[in-house]
Amino acid sequence: MNKYIDFLKTNNIKVTPQRIAIIELMDQYGHISVRDIFAKIKANFPTLSLATVYKNINAMLESNFIKELKIVGHDSKYELVKEDHSHMICNECGKVEDIDLETKTLITDAKKISNYSIDESNIQLFGICPECR
Ligand SMILES: [Zn+2]
Ligand SMILES: [Zn+2]
Repeated sequence: MNKYIDFLKTNNIKVTPQRIAIIELMDQYGHISVRDIFAKIKANFPTLSLATVYKNINAMLESNFIKELKIVGHDSKYELVKEDHSHMICNECGKVEDIDLETKTLITDAKKISNYSIDESNIQLFGICPECR
């Protein structure tokens, strides 16, 4: 996990064992909610409160180290910042997966039609995953 320690340091985010643990979980699960993070790291950090997990998440959000994924009808999930991508979400098991889609045309069309300037896109497709079908 040295790469994350370096990254935290270069972004002036204080390196703490809790933060390393949170980042490790995001790396392992890809997309994870604060509640799930808390449930999983509680055993290793018995004095840690849910509020502290939120504080750590907010600090890392501010530094653009992680990204919030707001999902209608579900808890927000958090992931490490990487290349822009879209998401597939299973309505049955709630699993979230990354998918690389060509969104350039879509965004260009949206700009043309709406006359908006577009700051970010967040494309989510909901359905039933192969395991649940
Ligand atoms: Zn599923
Ligand atoms: Zn993702």
